[in-house]
Amino acid sequence: MTARILVVDDLPVNARLLEAKLTAEYYQVTVVDNGHAAIEVCKAGGCDLVLLDVMMPNLSGFEVCRILKSDADTLHIPVVLVTALDAARDRVEGLEAGADDFLTKPVSDVALLARVKSLLRLKLLVDELRMRAATAQDVQLEILYKRVFASPSASDLVLIADDRESSAKRMRDILMRAGYRVVIEQGARRVVDLAIEKNPTLAIVNLDIADYDGLRLCSELRAHQLTRNLPLLAVSDETNEARLSKALDLGVNDYVTRPIEPNELLARAMTQLRRERYTDYLRESVQTTMELAIKDPLTGLYNRRYLQTYLANHVKIAGEKNTPLSLLVLDIDHFKSVNDLHGHDGGDDVLVEFVERLSDNLRRIDLACRLGGEEFVVIMPETDRTLATSVAERIREVVAREPFRISSDGQTVHITTSIGISCFHGVGDTPELMLKRADLGLYKAKNSGRNRVIVADAA
Ligand code: GH3
Ligand code: MG
Ligand code: MG
Repeated sequence: MTARILVVDDLPVNARLLEAKLTAEYYQVTVVDNGHAAIEVCKAGGCDLVLLDVMMPNLSGFEVCRILKSDADTLHIPVVLVTALDAARDRVEGLEAGADDFLTKPVSDVALLARVKSLLRLKLLVDELRMRAATAQDVQLEILYKRVFASPSASDLVLIADDRESSAKRMRDILMRAGYRVVIEQGARRVVDLAIEKNPTLAIVNLDIADYDGLRLCSELRAHQLTRNLPLLAVSDETNEARLSKALDLGVNDYVTRPIEPNELLARAMTQLRRERYTDYLRESVQTTMELAIKDPLTGLYNRRYLQTYLANHVKIAGEKNTPLSLLVLDIDHFKSVNDLHGHDGGDDVLVEFVERLSDNLRRIDLACRLGGEEFVVIMPETDRTLATSVAERIREVVAREPFRISSDGQTVHITTSIGISCFHGVGDTPELMLKRADLGLYKAKNSGRNRVIVADAA
């Protein structure tokens, strides 16, 4: 995953050190030596992540961070504050300024790459969403941000896998004060099952569990189908870099070392939580976008676009397997007068009820589409002319039998429909020809008095 990283430090030697480490990992690095320049680069959209020194003349790192996080153009860019060793107070101030994470000087390679990777994964999702939000006018960026950046709630469950009771309880208290729900599991062998059962938002795993291999536990969580995407935060006793690297290689998202600093734990948990929320949102919006692309919003039926693909597939199958295939084209009779008498909303009521009656009288294998206006198509695989005709007759009858209710004016209206049928002719027949023939049937039905079914291609 390549990305552009902005290093901000007033001391050239510090900046060069970070630059060298990041360039070695093939990141593109830009270096600036003051806060104003940093803000400029960010506003111009020139970076995916900022490593920000805290102690700088003029504008401090805290101030830069506050400015970036209060501007809608830059608030989505992850900011990592680079603080002096053991500056717990700095971390509190950094969090309040909106920083996403911290690194302490001297910066270790494992820590640097873990933070960078974890935050860039989040940034990728954010970018994807911002792009969608810009394209789909209906997605409000603000609503999205509110949802993603909201505080943890009782629906955010953290699973702590730690055999040391006091350490587990300490983490639990920190997380619960921040609003998370927490469940603790002290037996390493039960963790995977519990994760499957509880479906947590995040799992925190002690890498130094006494009677088990913590790394193995992480890899088991990664391997299982149902926990594969569960965000994992490792907790490690000493700064054993080799072991932490191994954990990150196994797919652990991030880590904290003991003694656990509450703000650090919360910041890392929060990053993972946001990533989950972005992913959920993306999943939902993909679903909605797909539905919008193939479905008619008024009736919920598939639209013309979907019909074309679907019909083409079934014509192909019918040709290959030599099976029957029938097609109905339905058009409501004198629909214009419904609109004229009851208004457009009244017309819509009729369309919705028409589709209900239609759908209730189709079989599972039939697919109904709204071609447009008051015109519909039903595709009937494995259905010959006789069967298609009887289904069409049934539909015609249930439409004509009882009047339709108009909810806006409380009145009722009698509706009838004309239906044309075409059947697959065998090899050489096409979706276009089938639609054309069914249309011809419909035309004949209209011309011979409406409220009737006509098979166009009886030949
Ligand atoms: P025919 O029996 O020959 O089919 O007559 P008709 O009045 O049904 O046919 P025509 O095609 O002349 O009119 C269709 C009307 O359907 C015109 C249009 O305003 C209306 N219409 C199309 N789409 C919608 C819709 O989504 N909602 C409503 N309420 N009316 C629609
Ligand atoms: Mg009509
Ligand atoms: Mg029409």
